Amino acid sequence: MPHIKQKEITSSNTNKTTLASIENKWKKVTNILLKQIGATEHKNWIQPLSICSIQNKILEIIAPNRFLRDWVSMHYTNKISDIWKTTYPNEIISINIITAPKLHTQQKNIANNSQNKIKTTTTNNGQTDTWEDEQPKNIIKKYALDPRFTFDNFVIGKSNELAAAAAKRVAEDTKISFNPLFLYSGVGLGKTHLMHAIGWKICESFPDKKIIYMSAEKFMYEFIHSLQNKNVMSFKEKFRNIDIFMVDDIQFIAGKEKVQDEFFHTFNSLIEQNKQIVISGNCPPSEIKGLTAQLCSRLNGGLLADIQQTDYELRLAILKSKLKYIKNIEIPISVLEFIADKITTNVRELEGALNKVAIQAEITNKPVTIKTTQYVLQDILRSNTKEITIDHIQKTVASCYNIKASDITSKKRARHITRPRQIAMYITKLLTPASLPEIGREFGGRDHTTALYAIRKIEDLIPHDTELSKSIDILINKIKYA
Ligand code: ADP
Ligand code: MG
Repeated sequence: MPHIKQKEITSSNTNKTTLASIENKWKKVTNILLKQIGATEHKNWIQPLSICSIQNKILEIIAPNRFLRDWVSMHYTNKISDIWKTTYPNEIISINIITAPKLHTQQKNIANNSQNKIKTTTTNNGQTDTWEDEQPKNIIKKYALDPRFTFDNFVIGKSNELAAAAAKRVAEDTKISFNPLFLYSGVGLGKTHLMHAIGWKICESFPDKKIIYMSAEKFMYEFIHSLQNKNVMSFKEKFRNIDIFMVDDIQFIAGKEKVQDEFFHTFNSLIEQNKQIVISGNCPPSEIKGLTAQLCSRLNGGLLADIQQTDYELRLAILKSKLKYIKNIEIPISVLEFIADKITTNVRELEGALNKVAIQAEITNKPVTIKTTQYVLQDILRSNTKEITIDHIQKTVASCYNIKASDITSKKRARHITRPRQIAMYITKLLTPASLPEIGREFGGRDHTTALYAIRKIEDLIPHDTELSKSIDILINKIKYA
């Protein structure tokens, strides 16, 4: 077929070409990115991604697993976003990376190939991407446990000893001492790890006990799906005969009335049958906004165990323990001490930093020193030491929403300006020590009640508006790491 005709056919059918045209743009953007980051990083981190859609100016990208998603979010979204915005102005305001464990075969192969390459060169933790297929019989396949997350691999320090002891008690005792166990902490401090560890331990000691571990998000999606397909009964049925029910990140369903009700019923019926429940959240139940009083009081009815920020000793011990996954690369203790001293945010970031150092050494075939580490981790180190200013927050939010930074501090009241302004105030409260009067002042000489109103408004919206909440996460990442 002559070239011109083919073009005509494609352009006459805009609906069909939507995904194809996004894919073409994705190719172009990643080719530009390739020049910035080099072939190896591109192959390891960018090639396994696939493009999904652009909706409401949010570009959705699929990563084959959580690790890749977190890594790419942290290190490449800003670059991708900048290139996309420059090449195709006004098309996107932000990027959302999601995981899709059940990609179709071709995509999965690509993802696996690339993943394995990374793992075989740097790690020896025995993990394969097929771990979902290698589960003990008391785990329903769909609610798989990650083999890396065991008690043996969990390093205990002052900040997590209560949570770890409580988790072990749940896993080892035949009688129930507290119900539920509620674990809470900021991100990346080991809640999910401990829940999986409970699962593994029970599988080992009590092979007949039935376990379900799921994220609250998954609970919600399965529930909604069952409503749509009119098989709520079989959804409920699933929780009838289990012995241990673990739900991760409960804050996700806060404010979502129907889902919370359903969860409340499931929770009560299991408690009545004396079945063990373990829940995690990003703060204690009483501080989770949008949780019903009933559910809050139920969640408070067992043991609350928090995990606090790590101290230097624990960070160093964790890094040392992770060395067993790194083969053929020598990482001097001085470098571990350097990382433990500098990366203080959370364990996920700590692990990420160690992996990055190892990958870089593998690629360049050069010995690891504090100097090379400083170079490899410069972005992360900057974000760990950088003081976040209100001005930086205002500029970043404004640029993501395609408005001027001066609009944020202006008196303008158009909605396309007020919402980003409220978001910027909310993020300022979150990331800086500024008081409400200070925030009001910095946002165009407003008073503290206006600042409070703006912050409350966003806090109220977040539990109901997944897109907003994800955009805010992305903005926070950008502000901290860009
Ligand atoms: P959370 O669920 O609290 O956000 P995760 O359980 O996902 O955090 O932990 C983030 C990463 O840090 C995981 O890879 C986990 O294995 C690791 N991690 C957290 N705490 C510890 C610890 N005490 N010892 C070893 N690894 C840890
Ligand atoms: Mg978690």
